[in-house]
Amino acid sequence: MSASPVFSVIVPIYNESGSIPELHRRICEVMDAVDETWEFILVDDGSRDNSRDLIQELAAEDERVRPVIFARNFGQQNAVVAGLDYSRGKAVIVIDADLQDPPELIHELIAKWREGYEVVYAQRTERAGESFMKLITAKLFYRVIDRITDIDLPLDTGFFRLLDRTVVDVMVDMREHHRFFRGLSIWVGFRQIAVPYKRAARFAGETHYTLRNMVRLAATAITGFSFFPLQVATFLGFFSAGISLLAIPTVIILRLAGVQAFLGQATTLIAVLFFGGVQLISLGILGEYIGRLYDEARGRPLYIVREAPDMNHGDTD
Ligand code: UDP
Ligand code: MG
Repeated sequence: MSASPVFSVIVPIYNESGSIPELHRRICEVMDAVDETWEFILVDDGSRDNSRDLIQELAAEDERVRPVIFARNFGQQNAVVAGLDYSRGKAVIVIDADLQDPPELIHELIAKWREGYEVVYAQRTERAGESFMKLITAKLFYRVIDRITDIDLPLDTGFFRLLDRTVVDVMVDMREHHRFFRGLSIWVGFRQIAVPYKRAARFAGETHYTLRNMVRLAATAITGFSFFPLQVATFLGFFSAGISLLAIPTVIILRLAGVQAFLGQATTLIAVLFFGGVQLISLGILGEYIGRLYDEARGRPLYIVREAPDMNHGDTD
């Protein structure tokens, strides 16, 4: 086999048939201007449209295209893991398929890499063509996660970034299931830098991230990088125990003073509901962590491929 390419461009794809030809054209335009060898890893994350056929067609006419076809939809996080697994480049660029991340910015990412940075992430300063709801939830998402987790997560970054081979090698060794890619790529350390950009509107199709997906991803990020929810459970426990400690002498004193308060069923009911609520919430929080532990313990693969190139890293040493 020929020597490893200098760059790998990885794109996770789920139902993006409207964008694929234009994506290929724009990426080729940018990468050909760089004048280094490169490969184009298109990961089909179980698309239900004809994305897979389009990818296969591209692979047939362009030998730089290496398709990784999943057996079903495993989610964007796992699609990117697969891309990293199969990549051979000395630097790897991860970018979305919908052209919201302008491929032209890759030139700047590469320039920073050549200066010696090992993680170069693109940071949006503006985003166009997205709904008010999406903007608000995205903003909130980053701020909440930044407050709660132990990592210093740069605000408003997505998948779009360049990773040096050293970083990729570290990241592919982490096989965690509930994965938060942008968190992990910060957590590993190395020399990191941001490159600002304006996020464009989608070229075609619609976002795959509903509010529900965003909440799920936030839970993954929070449980993946902090014990905050468990600490909240502990706090709630102390808080409710504290209330009852205050309530006992209060009731005794009032009773001795002859006040006829706190006799009704309502008081009992409220107390039972309150403590029951605290206990169930705490159990739920524990459950979230235990469920995640169980997923890790089962050790199932992060994704299953129907078709993929050799995972031969060849002469990358
Ligand atoms: N994607 C994927 N698997 C999924 C959902 C999305 O591979 O289950 C890909 C999608 O094709 C796109 C990228 O992840 O290339 C980002 O998705 P999207 O544009 O829907 O997210 P947004 O930009 O709205 O956050
Ligand atoms: Mg998008």
